[in-house]
Amino acid sequence: MKTAQSLCYVCDDKGRTMAVQVPLDIWRQIEPLARSVLCGKPAVAETPEPIQAFDEFLQHWDFRYPYSPAVVCPVCNASTQDWRMGDVRPFRLVNANFGGLLVFRCKQCDTTIRQKHFRDHVALEHSVHG
Ligand SMILES: [Zn+2]
Repeated sequence: MKTAQSLCYVCDDKGRTMAVQVPLDIWRQIEPLARSVLCGKPAVAETPEPIQAFDEFLQHWDFRYPYSPAVVCPVCNASTQDWRMGDVRPFRLVNANFGGLLVFRCKQCDTTIRQKHFRDHVALEHSVHG
């Protein structure tokens, strides 16, 4: 474990600290965190999808039709046959509720898409952000 003694404070001719030099091996360790601070982006990736809640949703499935994993964005027409598949998935699951609600976020246009599952049909709703 390196200590703060590895840091080198760069001073001007009046002795005021102007910058801090960090050894490259330490910089490599802190770079993702430092960049997130400098760029104003969160250090961690987006919150994980609620897959466990989705599994509960499927386990409680007692509707009169099979579950369809297809999702369509009514705003930008992005679509997928199965939101769980593919390298570039156009939708993120943001909420799941075993009562029948699934909420997706369109990665392309940020629209929120709600699939409300009822006994005989699915009701679709969406709301646009921004
Ligand atoms: Zn969209």
